[in-house]
Amino acid sequence: MIKPVTEKELVRQAGELAARTRREIEAAGLVITDFEQVARLFDVTVAWGELPAGKDGSYLKDERKIVLSTSVTTPERINFSFCHEIMHARIEDDDDLLSDFADAYRRSDEEAMERLCNVGAAELLMPAENVRQIMVERGFSTILIPELCERFGALSIAIAFQMVNCASHDCYLVIAENQMVQLTAAHNQTPMPNIKPINVSQEQLVIIYSGAASAAKYSIKRNQTIPVNHLLCMALRSNEPVQGDARLPFASGNGWDVPCEALYFRRKVFAFFNRTQPMSNLQMPLF
Ligand SMILES: [Zn+2]
Repeated sequence: MIKPVTEKELVRQAGELAARTRREIEAAGLVITDFEQVARLFDVTVAWGELPAGKDGSYLKDERKIVLSTSVTTPERINFSFCHEIMHARIEDDDDLLSDFADAYRRSDEEAMERLCNVGAAELLMPAENVRQIMVERGFSTILIPELCERFGALSIAIAFQMVNCASHDCYLVIAENQMVQLTAAHNQTPMPNIKPINVSQEQLVIIYSGAASAAKYSIKRNQTIPVNHLLCMALRSNEPVQGDARLPFASGNGWDVPCEALYFRRKVFAFFNRTQPMSNLQMPLF
């Protein structure tokens, strides 16, 4: 009997496909931010449009068309989202990877596919080998994100993903952004006649991306609001990384406290939840 491939192997294949895609884009003399031309290289078109809240982009397989949300305005998020959608297209065109994916999950597993596309998007923007080399020298910490951005350009989301993709310990990545969230009135409140309900909106920290190292067992849902007393909210008021035990934000609410390091950088909070100790730089394997 043939054994189905593991998720780790699928992640490796997605990374390889992304590295190949990056080389093809370079060989065509294009940079990744030439969205239309890069998409055309893979016989895909790009359009901008309104998408449901919390959705940055979408790939319409039958039309071979990427739709990017007009409500996303930060360049790092737009670039990451374009790369994520290009990876959907590339994976859909890769029969070997698709067949391994079907064997591994035996059904369509949207979350697993999202993870592969995030791994690929990070690899398109920032080769893992560059990040791994620096982690070997410097260890695993959020302070590498601004340093690597300085060296390689505005790629904070891709760098954070590559750090967690290359990590060999059990850790989770959360990237959160302050957003205006509409507060709904309490359900038990009886509406008063002749009084219009007041629309209250408030700034809250919302998870825009999450990732997990291959040693991690679970995944963290996007678009969750972080409670105001969480360590991640404290990072908003600091210019330095904040450290401490913090609850893993699982959607079930059943997360537990683990050592966490969070850094506010470029209007986003980058947090690593380390369920096991990161290897010291001397122990870090070379590949
Ligand atoms: Zn997707």
